[in-house]
Amino acid sequence: MQFLDMKAPYLELKEELDAAYFRFMNSGWYVLGPEADRFEELLAEYCGTEHAVGVSNGLDALCLGLEAGGVKPGDEVIVPSNTYIATWLAVSQVGAIPVPVEPELHTFNIDPARIEAAVTPRTTAIAAVHLFGTPADMAPVMEIAEKHHLFVLEDNAQSQGAFYQGKRTGNLGHAAAFSFYPAKNIGAFGEAGAVTTHDAALADRVRVLRNYGSRVKYRNEVKGYNRRIDALQAAFLAVKLPKLDEWNERRRQIASLYFNGLKDIPGMLLPESPLEKSVWHQFVIRISNRDAVKDALAGQGIPTMIHYPIPPHLSEAYADMKFKRGDFPIAEELADTFLSLPIGPHMSEDDARTVIGELRKILRSS
Ligand SMILES: *Cc1c(COP(=O)(O)O)cnc(C)c1O
Repeated sequence: MQFLDMKAPYLELKEELDAAYFRFMNSGWYVLGPEADRFEELLAEYCGTEHAVGVSNGLDALCLGLEAGGVKPGDEVIVPSNTYIATWLAVSQVGAIPVPVEPELHTFNIDPARIEAAVTPRTTAIAAVHLFGTPADMAPVMEIAEKHHLFVLEDNAQSQGAFYQGKRTGNLGHAAAFSFYPAKNIGAFGEAGAVTTHDAALADRVRVLRNYGSRVKYRNEVKGYNRRIDALQAAFLAVKLPKLDEWNERRRQIASLYFNGLKDIPGMLLPESPLEKSVWHQFVIRISNRDAVKDALAGQGIPTMIHYPIPPHLSEAYADMKFKRGDFPIAEELADTFLSLPIGPHMSEDDARTVIGELRKILRSS
């Protein structure tokens, strides 16, 4: 069994992907251009935003979103204490300071009720993450942002296609960052990312920043970067995007099997997210003897992962901020107990039943 079958999306769409490859190779146009334009249009339409700008990867999408959103060196940016470290790194890379806020226990996402206590006169933005496929509670986040004049960037690396109050993630904040890392719900065959927004001026700033700060060749308006989306990846992503809803539905079917098969096991906590709300990027259970259970499952050929074993504030990368264990106890407790079960659009129901069966056996005997 694989944790996630990386090759299956290629095999499912082989004809169209191969055709996109040959079309691209024969076009003679390899940077930005028609393939990138087309994917950007499709992505904006899918999300319901006015604009989508393709960029090099998810981390760069976060950095460009923050910079284009006006975040300056020395600013404070509110981030979840419980997230993949990329969200924090983006804040650091624009020279700002990540200010962690603890999550809600039922979504694992930033707790809006704790945000205001973290706002200071130096706060200029909130980076809200839709972790594991479940949208963050954005309505109160946007209310707080409006009250304090803060810019809101969604980190939508893990929840492409999810809905919150009738709108897609990526269409809930002032701008959103997407990652198309191959393991995401929609992944490239390499690196890619995007920024979505309704704000034409912000989209324009991202376009200029991703391309050496230049709109007209060799006229550089600002100190930009080379963070353009790879046009070949854009061509592939345009083939995959129309499949995203169906693939998310298949993830939901696996999640549904897990819920039914695991709900009555004592000593283990299932995600509390309602089945429909999440696009199940990960199916994460919580269990106190996590490492032993992980090893026992591995012994039966069942791969699991931990997302993530070390919360950003305790990682070596942030040693300079002098956080210590106990500073963000909810994030720490989650990191110590999280276990991600295999899930994906190409996972068979039989494999899901095998996971359930082995987990039941292990927990009965532990
Ligand atoms: C994957 C991920 C990113 C970074 O995306 P890359 O394309 O790998 O740079 C950022 N934030 C979250 C929450 C992610 O899961």
